[in-house]
Amino acid sequence: MNIHKSIKTLLSDKARDFLKRPKQMLIGAEWRDADSGETFDTFDPATGDLICKVAHAGSSDVDRAAKVAQAALEGDWARYTPAAREVAIRSFADLIEANTDLIGQIEALDSGKPAEHIKFVDVALSVGALRYNAGFPSKIQGDTLPVTAPDMHVYTRREPIGVVGAIVPWNFPICQACFKLAPALAAGCTIILKPAEQTPLSALILGELALEAGIPPGVINILPGYGQTTGQAIVDHPGIHKIAFTGSETVGKQIAARGAAHLKHVSLELGGKNPNIIFADSDIEAAAATAAMSIFFYSGQVCTAGSRLLVEEKIYDRVAEIVVAEAAKFQMGHGLRADTTMGPLISADQLDRVSGYIDAARSEAVEISYGGTRCEGELADGHFFTPTVLTHVPDESRVAREEIFGPVLAMQSFSDTDELVKRANCTGFGLAAGIWTHDIRKAHRTAAALQAGTVWVNTYNQFDAAVPFGGYKNSGYGRDNGMAGIEKYLQTKAVWVNYG
Ligand code: NDP
Repeated sequence: MNIHKSIKTLLSDKARDFLKRPKQMLIGAEWRDADSGETFDTFDPATGDLICKVAHAGSSDVDRAAKVAQAALEGDWARYTPAAREVAIRSFADLIEANTDLIGQIEALDSGKPAEHIKFVDVALSVGALRYNAGFPSKIQGDTLPVTAPDMHVYTRREPIGVVGAIVPWNFPICQACFKLAPALAAGCTIILKPAEQTPLSALILGELALEAGIPPGVINILPGYGQTTGQAIVDHPGIHKIAFTGSETVGKQIAARGAAHLKHVSLELGGKNPNIIFADSDIEAAAATAAMSIFFYSGQVCTAGSRLLVEEKIYDRVAEIVVAEAAKFQMGHGLRADTTMGPLISADQLDRVSGYIDAARSEAVEISYGGTRCEGELADGHFFTPTVLTHVPDESRVAREEIFGPVLAMQSFSDTDELVKRANCTGFGLAAGIWTHDIRKAHRTAAALQAGTVWVNTYNQFDAAVPFGGYKNSGYGRDNGMAGIEKYLQTKAVWVNYG
């Protein structure tokens, strides 16, 4: 049986039932087609096969959703007590957890990621974000303020910022959605979620589960569509008060500029070109194996991917040897297959983009020590690209400076530790960084000097709902997760009461 036919046999009955249902948008309690009747196609990136057609929300749909979300903001949701909001968010988390297998399968089909990774990483982080934020509603409180005017009682109220437009990418669809939904719900906001055109399906499952969990209709609205149409209509709509965006630097800048025209609150998470530094005094085996995982996990389509590996000169060859051996261990295949550890890239465009960077590396005479090719044979119809290790990459090379968003590691060496931090900080990005050393003073000094929103020491790609996540420099502003995560969904009102 060829890959196209064999994949369908791996789907559970529940996943097949979900796929049979029409793929509409959710506005309020209603699943509906687009006003225009338009749809778009979503494809399996591992085979290129059409999965299904999905309603394409246009500007009139966005307008309807904004009105419904505003009504819910002032209506049912506003009347939920903090305790009731906590219960609803927890029920939502429980239902997502109970549907882990369904989400794993559907997301694997739509995104190409291995289903097992989705279950243990994406769903776990989504549920974690909801449960962490479910604790906030009963703790959001204002202050009483000691003003100088006599006989005045002045206090503050922390109120929801309003209707939130959440625009998320395709690399961690459910997880990125929940990183925005969870604090927004906890703050009492209502939400219009636009999933990426490549991966709309798990957002539709989220919509079904939100209603089942008792979150009032209109609090979460799901509007699939393209960035240029649906996304832009969300950014431009005056009734949507905040945009929470994760995606590319280019689109992030456009959203910041367009949002400014309406004085919208905007938060942006925009990717990185993250330096992972291995000093000679570290656990070299662990550092090198983790470095390989940090770039090859989800085919390198991860904003925090450790895409630049800076290795102290005297251990460089040994680290390169281990990284190449780790790269060779990846089992490429369809995400629904249990033995797959690396799936395809998300799209033909992304495959061309990654291939283009390898061509650029070749033209700059960069050494390709492993990989660097598209996959043939059974995988030829999908967007598969082999794990790739580039060695002795010069700082000025494009592959050392630009975000590739593919399974491509740029290895560099250093001997001058004084120059190291300057080299590590030399890109426009500032999302994440790694440091491997047993010297605690060196670890803290380097962590303080790196321009990055997250620094991992002797580990990499650790995430937790309690830990704020976001970028420095062109990696964006605002934080997801942690106590900082909810702040951007709240605004402060001061109330003056004259009792004189
Ligand atoms: P985009 O930034 O284009 O897409 C992210 C989200 O924004 C999608 O939902 C997209 O819609 C939407 N969008 C696109 N244009 C607009 C617009 N004008 N107004 C409002 N919303 C818009 O990322 P790509 O998917 O094109 O990926 C390109 C590159 O971006 C990657 O190669 C990678 O370098 C980087 N990236 C970074 C991510 C991160 O985690 N920081 C995640 C994904 C990509 P649509 O569904 O139509 O694309």
